[in-house]
Amino acid sequence: MRTLLYSSQTYDRDSFLSAQVPAAIELHFQPARLTLDTVALADHYPVVCAFINDDLSAPILERLAAGGTRLIALRSAGFNHVDLPTAQRLGLSVVRVPSYSPHAVAEHAVALILLLNRHLHRAYNRTRDGDFTLHGLTGFDLVGKTVGVVGTGQIGATFARIMAGFGCQLLAYDPYPNPQVEALGARYLPLDQLLEQAQIVSLHCPLNEHTRHLINIDSLYRMQRAAMLINTGRGALVDTPALIEALKSGQLGYLGLDVYEEEAQLFFEDRSDLPLQDDVLARLLTFPNVVVTAHQAFLTREALGAIAQTTLDNITQWAAGTPQNLV
Ligand code: NAD
Repeated sequence: MRTLLYSSQTYDRDSFLSAQVPAAIELHFQPARLTLDTVALADHYPVVCAFINDDLSAPILERLAAGGTRLIALRSAGFNHVDLPTAQRLGLSVVRVPSYSPHAVAEHAVALILLLNRHLHRAYNRTRDGDFTLHGLTGFDLVGKTVGVVGTGQIGATFARIMAGFGCQLLAYDPYPNPQVEALGARYLPLDQLLEQAQIVSLHCPLNEHTRHLINIDSLYRMQRAAMLINTGRGALVDTPALIEALKSGQLGYLGLDVYEEEAQLFFEDRSDLPLQDDVLARLLTFPNVVVTAHQAFLTREALGAIAQTTLDNITQWAAGTPQNLV
């Protein structure tokens, strides 16, 4: 079965070729992102394998279906970028990788907390420049601090477990409380109360019509002054211009982002020789208390291996008429 992998980087190629590729699956790696300009490359491919910043809106799905595609195999857990009603109308099956390594993402969220709190990004540059002073690098102990976890599914629960290990007090918000998180001593509260009480807030809920701009100017001003916000979920969970306002006034003390509302045009590409055209991101990057990573929270060897193997299994099961992990 001819399978075209859009947005495939060298690490995708390595992980898929190291997995057990069934003889029936023929993999073709395409570095380009799936857009209206590149969709014709998928003609005569029954399977298209897509990642988070590939465009799976209605016009693209219609073009894919017309070219003979029958299955969209997502290499991600999130599926907010797929127009599902259109896929259904066209008879396109959509499968995903619901879980590959919650540890990869949860541990990256913790890495952002430690980096921001202890100003490691600044310390790294300072010592390399021969500046061994410590002014401006004062952090805080994590033990005893209150951490708010928004979304306590697989990643949020793993994150909560790690923060409990630091001796933090846990607050949680999720329409479906997780008994494993309650067992850690977490208290489930309405979102507003969580925001008012937490010194660190980390977002781990999916992006949908209920969660778009969940964090906006009002919610930012509900938070404790100089609190820390971490977003490894999806960019549009937060209203980015509102973050800039809250950072300028000092209301928001620290910001760690692995995802950005407008990331599709930027992330996963080397644009270091070009002027940055995105003024919002450019302003964000000027703050010393902001760290942005380019959607790399998933990027561990273990997660990549699990993504490759589950995707291959998803394609095999779909071809056998017993689909799994359907969206
Ligand atoms: P999951 O489905 O296991 O958990 C999501 C949780 O969010 C569920 O418990 C659900 O009840 C809760 N939720 C739903 N609506 C909510 C709302 N309005 N408010 C609060 N909570 C709500 O998913 P997961 O595997 O833990 O992944 C969570 C998200 O992390 C994904 O949707 C994806 O967007 C993101 N993610 C990011 C990366 C990355 O590399 N940065 C990688 C994987 C996943």
